[in-house]
Amino acid sequence: VWLGSMTAHEAALGALKQYFGYDSFRPGQQGIVDALLDGRDVLGVMPTGAGKSVCYQIPAALMPGVTIVISPLISLMRDQVDALNDLGLPAAFVNTTQTPDEQAVVFAQAAAGQLKLLYVAPERLETGRFRDFAARTPISLIAVDEAHCVSQWGQDFRSSYLGIGDFIVGLPKRPPVGAFTATATERVRRDIVGLLGLRNPAVTVTGFDRPNLYFDVVKLETKYKAAWVANYVAAHPDESGIIYCATRKTTEALAATLNQMGHAAVAYHGGMSSDAREAAQHDFITDKVPVVVATNAFGMGIDKSDVRYVIHHNLPESIEAYYQEAGRAGRDGEPSRCTLLWNESDIVTRRRLLDSDYENERMTPEDQEIVRQSKRRLLDGMVGYCRTADCLHRYMTRYFGQEITPTDAPSDTHEDKCGACSNCESTFETIDVTSVAQAISRCVHDVNQRVGSGKIVKILRGSKAQDLAWLNPEQMPTFGMLKDVNEARVRDVLSQMATDGYLFIAEGRMPIVMFGARAAETAASDFHYEIKRVERKSASVSSRH
Ligand code: ADP
Repeated sequence: VWLGSMTAHEAALGALKQYFGYDSFRPGQQGIVDALLDGRDVLGVMPTGAGKSVCYQIPAALMPGVTIVISPLISLMRDQVDALNDLGLPAAFVNTTQTPDEQAVVFAQAAAGQLKLLYVAPERLETGRFRDFAARTPISLIAVDEAHCVSQWGQDFRSSYLGIGDFIVGLPKRPPVGAFTATATERVRRDIVGLLGLRNPAVTVTGFDRPNLYFDVVKLETKYKAAWVANYVAAHPDESGIIYCATRKTTEALAATLNQMGHAAVAYHGGMSSDAREAAQHDFITDKVPVVVATNAFGMGIDKSDVRYVIHHNLPESIEAYYQEAGRAGRDGEPSRCTLLWNESDIVTRRRLLDSDYENERMTPEDQEIVRQSKRRLLDGMVGYCRTADCLHRYMTRYFGQEITPTDAPSDTHEDKCGACSNCESTFETIDVTSVAQAISRCVHDVNQRVGSGKIVKILRGSKAQDLAWLNPEQMPTFGMLKDVNEARVRDVLSQMATDGYLFIAEGRMPIVMFGARAAETAASDFHYEIKRVERKSASVSSRH
């Protein structure tokens, strides 16, 4: 009605040009904008940087009343609002950084129809003042940013998001609701629709594949990782890169190592002063320093399009986290490389962190257990990425619920090979290690779950070492059972069994190998166990990427 004779479609394109200066929509955007203008609810699932904001900002510009944008990060609101005002879209926020008087001014502006967009954190919706305001102000659209925060199955659960559904139901006239996220496994998607109360939403999932990124998975013992990184940096002296590490200490140590070797690098982590962080960020963005060695604190709101590589020195907690961090490479569309360095002990460390993690103190123990379980599942997705022999692009997009067919797959794909991941450019040997796994299991039984992995391996290999004498290993049925199997192989199988749940490494002063939840399976007659060995084709992979 308010668009006059123009079709909604034409008006949307006009607004895209007028406010943002873009000539065309990116994949997915048009459909979402059209649906919202048509009064429908929408669930938009797009990776970070794909352009979700435009999807609600254009309808906000074209619709008569105010659009409420619910966003979890107060710290980003000011930037978003400033940017919109610069573009000629009147916007404001109400949040806890303002005095009540300042808030009153914003409410008055919105009520007088002077604002197109009003940004708030979900907690705000629960205040009486906001409810009063919402009851008497025409709201044309509600946009929920980072909508996955409503789900306990995602990684950023925020209990305040659970109030959004009630808020919407309580409005005198229900406007269309657009929910946006970069994270949406099937389960999270169902939660968003259910808990926000979306009505027959138009669901759009787009753009998760990034064909210009080369995905590379390298299994490497921790002690070799720093040298691997240094080699890579040395071989790519003119390129910008980000190296993500799990701990602050590692970022500093690795940055120091690189600098000692003559490769300029800065560390970046949350424990540094804000001045030091800003300086590091500035040096990286302006190309004064090509490499930043960072924790996951680095990246939010950092806009550098020519990052040529992102190396993960440790295993991230989820595919979501990995994709977001690795995805900071190649924003300009040029070939870039995302390498994940991992090993079995990374997985053990991650699992331990996750079980001891009680971030959200306000949760009930039951809720904590739900979150913990969901985090375990997220980690399983990440471990699956390390272990898969499938195309890594396909693994990733499938994880996000978007199946890519070979024709969508990056580059020229004969035989389903994408040409842009280390799996498609490697050959694999799967080795049947069923008997090795069974011997390990029996040996853990023989020693009554009392020793660490080193001793298990020694016993199986028939070692005469003195430190075993107290166990009387010669009396054990498994003594020397694997004397013909290479020691590294036995270790590999044991580690993999621990991460797969057949064994459990009990931490303590001396880690002890115990039976895991799936231990009994190893005794079943149909038990079958494999490990994967990668044979890289050659160094030719680095020629294109
Ligand atoms: P997201 O919220 O999905 O992470 P943003 O909305 O911040 O992504 O958009 C990322 C960048 O892409 C922004 O700089 C935005 O201006 C730009 N962008 C969005 N839509 C388009 C488009 N249709 N054409 C060109 N650039 C776009």
